[in-house]
Amino acid sequence: MAEIFQADCENCLGLCCIALRFNRADGFGHDKSAGDPCFYLDARHRCRIHDRREDLGYEGCIDFDCLGAGQRASASLSAEERTNPAAIAGVQTRLRILMAIQELRQALTEAGALDLAAPDHARRQTLLTQFAAFADDPKADLHESRVDPVLDSARALIRSWRDERQGAPSRS
Ligand code: SF4
Repeated sequence: MAEIFQADCENCLGLCCIALRFNRADGFGHDKSAGDPCFYLDARHRCRIHDRREDLGYEGCIDFDCLGAGQRASASLSAEERTNPAAIAGVQTRLRILMAIQELRQALTEAGALDLAAPDHARRQTLLTQFAAFADDPKADLHESRVDPVLDSARALIRSWRDERQGAPSRS
């Protein structure tokens, strides 16, 4: 199960090094806007300072974990598109959506160890099935009109568990 959430940088196009914004204050060696490729990313989508990131002040890169979103977003591109910078740039939105999906999918998976009521387990399983269909099919339609309701349902369910544990009224 754990490999579902494991980043596979060998099969990713360095998307996190392009799509995400970062700055010095958060443990990166320079400021970068979302959508701008990091200047350490080489033409083969590899980090030119990978082994020296800590020394050069890029602890933020070391700590970052896409939870497997990067290779999934990259897999949506054809072999031809993988050499096309415009196509790679176009997949950034997909990366962000997949990051949100993978984060909630992991939380729901881990919740399987909780002592939940049967209806909650059923909701959890339904959401996991929906997330798997989105995340594990490279051609899945990830339009916000399809994905956002599922993300919202997962967040509400997780929040209700947290509220119950804290003794607060459930908002789901
Ligand atoms: S320093 Fe390396 S790992 Fe960090 S964003 Fe740049 S290319 Fe990616």
